Amino acid sequence: MNHNDALVVFSGGQDSTTCLFWAKREFQKVYALSFLYGQKHAQEVELARAIAQKADVEFDVMDVSFIGKLGHNSLTDQNMLMDNEKPENGVPNTFVPGRNLFFLSIAAVYARERGINHLVTGVSQTDFSGYPDCRDAFIKSLNVTLNLAMETQFVIHTPLMWVDKAQTWALADKLGVLELVRNETMTCYNGIPGDGCGHCPACKLRREGLEKYLQTRQNGKL
Ligand code: ZN
Repeated sequence: MNHNDALVVFSGGQDSTTCLFWAKREFQKVYALSFLYGQKHAQEVELARAIAQKADVEFDVMDVSFIGKLGHNSLTDQNMLMDNEKPENGVPNTFVPGRNLFFLSIAAVYARERGINHLVTGVSQTDFSGYPDCRDAFIKSLNVTLNLAMETQFVIHTPLMWVDKAQTWALADKLGVLELVRNETMTCYNGIPGDGCGHCPACKLRREGLEKYLQTRQNGKL
C-alpha cells in the first residue's frame, strides 16, 4: 500500500476539480478517475481530461453506461425534462440512483489494484439537493463496506462534506485555482462550461456561492 497516493472521483465539475487540487496539496501522487454513465453531456469527460492534464495528474475513464439504463433519471434520459427544484416528496429527477455507490466501489477496486488506499470525492451534505448518496452517513457506511469487501483499509476523504458553495469557492481560491475552476469546469445541467446557462439549479447554486464568496472576500471577511 502506498499511503501517499490518492484517487479522486473526478467529473470535471466545480466540486471534484476543487477536490483534485486539494488532493494535490495533501498527497504525493494523485490519480483522477472519470466515468461515462450515459450522461447527456458526455463532453464533460473531455473537460475533465483537459483539467487533469493541466493539473499534471494521471487520468483515466471508465465506461459504466449501464448505470444510466438501470434507473430512470433526467441526466441520462434524453426525453426527460429536468426538475428545476427539489420536489416536496422524494428526490429530484436529476438523481441517478446508485451513481456514487457504483463510482466509489469501482474507484476502490481501481485504487486497490494500484496500491492506493485514499479515495477522494466531492460530495457535500451542506447544499443538499436531496441526493441520499451525498450524505456523510452513506459515505461512512460505504467506507466500512469497501474495507470489509476487499480487506483493504480505504480512507474516503470528503473535503467538501460540511462546506457550502461559497466556502468551496474560498477553498479553490486558497488553492490558487479559482479562475481555473470558474472558467474550465462544468457544473451546468445544460452542458455549458464555465458560468453555464445561468438558470438551471446547478448554475444557480454555483453562481450564488461565487457571488457570496466574492462579496465576503471584498469585505475582508474570509
Ligand atoms: Zn446551467
